[in-house]
Amino acid sequence: MRIGHTVFFSVFLLVVSILLSGTSVAAKGDSSPVYVILWFDTEDFILPESDDALLRIATFLAEESAPATFKIVGEKARVLKERDRKDILTILKRHDVGYHTNFHSVQPTPALYLSPLGWEEGVAEFQRREYPGLVDLQRITGRPASCYGQPGSSWGPQQYGALRSWRIPVYLDDGSHVSLDGRPFWYDGILTFYSLTHTIRTELGGSNDLEHAKAEFQEAHRELKESGGGVISIYYHPCEFVHAEFWDGVNFSEGANPPRSTWKKPPVKSAEEVETAHTTFEDYIRFIKSFPKIRFKTARMLPALYPDLALLRSFSEAELLEIARAVESRGVNYQEQQRFSLSASEIFSLLTRFAETKLADEPATPLQLERPPILGPINLQPAQRVIGTSLNQYERTVQDVVRFMKSEERIPGTIWLGSQVVSPESFLVTTARYVLDTQPDPGNPAEILFEPAELRPAKHVKNDKSIWDWVIFPPNFEAPEMMELAKRQSWTLKPALPIWQTVGK
Ligand SMILES: [Zn+2]
Repeated sequence: MRIGHTVFFSVFLLVVSILLSGTSVAAKGDSSPVYVILWFDTEDFILPESDDALLRIATFLAEESAPATFKIVGEKARVLKERDRKDILTILKRHDVGYHTNFHSVQPTPALYLSPLGWEEGVAEFQRREYPGLVDLQRITGRPASCYGQPGSSWGPQQYGALRSWRIPVYLDDGSHVSLDGRPFWYDGILTFYSLTHTIRTELGGSNDLEHAKAEFQEAHRELKESGGGVISIYYHPCEFVHAEFWDGVNFSEGANPPRSTWKKPPVKSAEEVETAHTTFEDYIRFIKSFPKIRFKTARMLPALYPDLALLRSFSEAELLEIARAVESRGVNYQEQQRFSLSASEIFSLLTRFAETKLADEPATPLQLERPPILGPINLQPAQRVIGTSLNQYERTVQDVVRFMKSEERIPGTIWLGSQVVSPESFLVTTARYVLDTQPDPGNPAEILFEPAELRPAKHVKNDKSIWDWVIFPPNFEAPEMMELAKRQSWTLKPALPIWQTVGK
């Protein structure tokens, strides 16, 4: 599995580096490009009319040369095949295909079944339940899925572990579990478009909705142009164009799980209302297309637009010292430079390996990041207090931490200094201080001190009731322990920088 990953990421990075030159030339002509990512959660496997809506939308967009991303539920792909919708499967070849779980709202949904599980159990359970739908989707559409996004707000961090092994490079959805100031970000090494500032759409009720949406689009476009460019995220469900109520709301609300034989079809719109929905949407797309240089991008194109250039770098001793100084001044956090960003876990890995060479009194060699990026800790943080240890014990522990990262592909959640335990946060701050204090000559301090430290990116992960706002959840559903696990994975959080910012200048 490790070898597979390494080969995959090397090929991916090679492709990115080939793409770099071409895209940078295009970006130079316009330093603030605005892209539209248009995506459809394609999930209603109960109402056959939603198939017709899907066909009309996909056909219209193909004719307008506006490629979209259809995130399709496994069961939806299977019913399209059963209903012999070759017309739909053919037109989808002109778009992008993503994955949207095996059964969407059939209970239990992902957040529910992931909530009592730790990291490894959760990854395995998500894999067990959802992988068969991905296989079906890819077989039926003939395409590898470019992205994944959860049903409703049924999000869990363990999904990311499965996406890594499925080699799905992009998370595309909307929600508030993790957000980074409305920007795209990296989390667990997956490029994530979630909780973006500019997530907009037109409602489908005719000219009033359209006029409002046009003004909103214009405003988003202006803001992005002024702030260096970026992405506008627009999403729909094909079923919205034909139903009067969501297919899952009428069957699976508040934890309900009726047998298939009693699934009800949702009420539908009148023929006139369906026509209004389509024409409102179509006029909106034509309006968007009227903006000069606007481009529609699919999820498949996002990794080339937001490459992780940190993975292509070698970090010199001077750069490692600069990174350590930033830890001293700003604590355990991601770091952002013009051309690349580093997550706290990447900083942890670089500085620990740097300290190892210093402790061994070896010359520092340029260091590279792991591919794929290492994960954060998967256990909860140990209680923190002030601890002192000898230089010799620190050296042995540093060696053990480096071995751990190599074999487990994550940073340890508990770090042992002989019989005393410290958190990785505390260890990182002390390690940054150690590499700085031993400049220019390796010193020999009598005692190495560890003090409590805070994981700052954890504040970008929400843990309250508001994130579980979905009618399909059982009443009062919450997942406080699982969201603590999500906070631990914020070790891997960092901004995703657009290519025109990193190489276009
Ligand atoms: Zn959905």
